[in-house]
Amino acid sequence: MKKLGFGFMRLPVLDENDAAKVDLEQLCRMVDRFMERGFTYFDTAYVYHKQQSEVFLRKSLVERYPRDSFKIATKLPMPMVNSVEDNAKLFNEELEKCGVDYFDYYLLHAMNRERFEKAKKYSSFEFLKQMKAEGKIKHIGFSFHEDVTLLKEMLETWPETEFVQLQINYLDWENPSIQARECYELCTQYGKPVIVMEPIKGGSLVAVPDRAEQMFKKHSPDASIASWAVRYAASLDNVMMVLSGMSNMEQMEDNTAYMENFVPLNDEERAVIDRVVDIINSSIAVACTACGYCVDGCPKHIPIPKYFALYNAHMQALNKGFSTSQTYYANMTASLPSASECIACGKCEKSCPQHLNIIRELKNVARELER
Ligand code: SF4
Ligand code: SF4
Repeated sequence: MKKLGFGFMRLPVLDENDAAKVDLEQLCRMVDRFMERGFTYFDTAYVYHKQQSEVFLRKSLVERYPRDSFKIATKLPMPMVNSVEDNAKLFNEELEKCGVDYFDYYLLHAMNRERFEKAKKYSSFEFLKQMKAEGKIKHIGFSFHEDVTLLKEMLETWPETEFVQLQINYLDWENPSIQARECYELCTQYGKPVIVMEPIKGGSLVAVPDRAEQMFKKHSPDASIASWAVRYAASLDNVMMVLSGMSNMEQMEDNTAYMENFVPLNDEERAVIDRVVDIINSSIAVACTACGYCVDGCPKHIPIPKYFALYNAHMQALNKGFSTSQTYYANMTASLPSASECIACGKCEKSCPQHLNIIRELKNVARELER
């Protein structure tokens, strides 16, 4: 398999404020381009796009191509598993939504300590093994968002794990709260191939500071900024697949062009990335990947990732002397709850895979943008 997977987490939408309204016509064209260039791996999940991602996978792919011409990965939504019976209920619903009778790759979704305990309590991994024995899953694994200590415990508890999905990108490789390098090395040691998620860190490694962008462009004028991040992840030997959540045809054209005949990074390119990491680390305010996991549980319905994106843009713009973010923020808060309406209940922080101190950062957003 070619090393680029099409992530169905950030699909093109017809309405920016409604993730369920996916632009099916554009999506079909993107799927066609992906397949034409010889890529076959598609990654979705129960929860993406307000639980409609799997449906759009069926419409754009399953109903238009022979089942043996592509691979589907999807995931058991652990927050919704509250009994042993829920495993089968959710799994069967996913088969139906995707319109298939088996999944090629199936994962326990976004595992952390709490979800690991839950999966043990409700025998979720045993359920995956049973589905594999019945031919309804080809390969079983989990996606992971915690530290290397828990990862080791999970690999010891579930030796039948065939692969692990990790957040790996050049900015998180040495990040002590993500531990990308340590987790990757542990998977390699245990002989588990790695699937990479967030290689572009939710798009933030495209909107790099000007100085970093100039460095990339000076080295390779024609290469996109995204290509550096995807190739970085794909260059790791034990990485079997790199997922990219492509949101438009332009991103699809770019990604499939440089990944069609993938060339790993050379030493000179790695040195450029090392310098870019230093520049980004000295300029980014909040390392939010815009995954949206924090939003659903917020009792005040605060659009947390939108405010963090605005805040990051604001802080970067201030370095150049001028920011329009306060105007954008004022417009947004005319119809949405503001950052200062946070009641510090802490629900969002429990679901943040980046372990961000959301309550503190929202206070910073309010201080900077509510003036
Ligand atoms: S801490 Fe604030 S932002 Fe987080 S869930 Fe509670 S109210 Fe929402
Ligand atoms: S704050 Fe955390 S959970 Fe929320 S969108 Fe950002 S990275 Fe995701």
